[in-house]
Amino acid sequence: MLPPVFRFAPSPNGRLHLGHAYSALLNFDLARRSGGRFLLRIEDIDQTRCRPEFEAAIYDDLAWLGIEWHEPVRRQSEHLELYRQAIDRLQAAGLLYPAFESRAEIARLVAAREREAPWPRDPDGAPLYPGEGRRLSAEQRRSRIDAGAPFALRLDVAAAQQMTGPLDWQELGAGPGGETGTVIAEPQRWGDVVLARKEIPTSYHLSVVIDDALQGVTEVVRGQDLFWSTSVHRLLQQLLGLPAPRYRHHSLVLGDDGLKLSKSTKATALAELRAAGLTPAAIRDQLALPPAT
Ligand code: GLU
Repeated sequence: MLPPVFRFAPSPNGRLHLGHAYSALLNFDLARRSGGRFLLRIEDIDQTRCRPEFEAAIYDDLAWLGIEWHEPVRRQSEHLELYRQAIDRLQAAGLLYPAFESRAEIARLVAAREREAPWPRDPDGAPLYPGEGRRLSAEQRRSRIDAGAPFALRLDVAAAQQMTGPLDWQELGAGPGGETGTVIAEPQRWGDVVLARKEIPTSYHLSVVIDDALQGVTEVVRGQDLFWSTSVHRLLQQLLGLPAPRYRHHSLVLGDDGLKLSKSTKATALAELRAAGLTPAAIRDQLALPPAT
């Protein structure tokens, strides 16, 4: 059997906190214990929020924690052409459609629908796409695009599921409801997800599955907040002919207020803890991880 391949894939849009430390150390330790490889990927497709100083800080914080990664680091912003090709394939298969509603328009549509009955929400609590994109004719789409209108390319999830049939994944960790083992993918719970926008030929969901496959990742170890995203990832893997890694979703490190940590909360930023004199060993201890070997 080939050695397993793990990865840590942070976005450089803020400073790393204890939750990131937990995920990175868990991946690193699992790789080390299994004789596997640990890769680092910088998920920087959102150029409006990502900043070079945050990327530099990621390397710094991880090295301080005693983490070593296999070079080269993969930076998603350097592979936009590759993502564009996948979008072209999905488009050629008739699985994408442009949706022209702005975020504000979507909010208005949802509010209008909700005056009658609750509108369905995705596993993150965001309302499903309520717009008319899928129903527009080819001419209507063309004329709006030619007129320069902004748009999002959405996946026709029902059509995609019809093409793939039922899907599942192997979960070695657990979902928020304790789901484990063979988990049935339910991509329809997200509605028609955005896979690209006019000005950016990809999205989190698309880049993550392409990169995991290209980097030969066999084990995806990440926070439970991404558990149900795996449904979308499985669908995309199947549509694009990519292998499915094993998944291990871990529980989240919560703040004293019982809430998920945020990149903007200073108290749990690794840089702050380090400045306050904490050692990497103390961080491991606080996270209930075994000492470094
Ligand atoms: N870039 C994502 C994040 O920072 C993680 C992606 C993943 O592990 O699949 O939350």
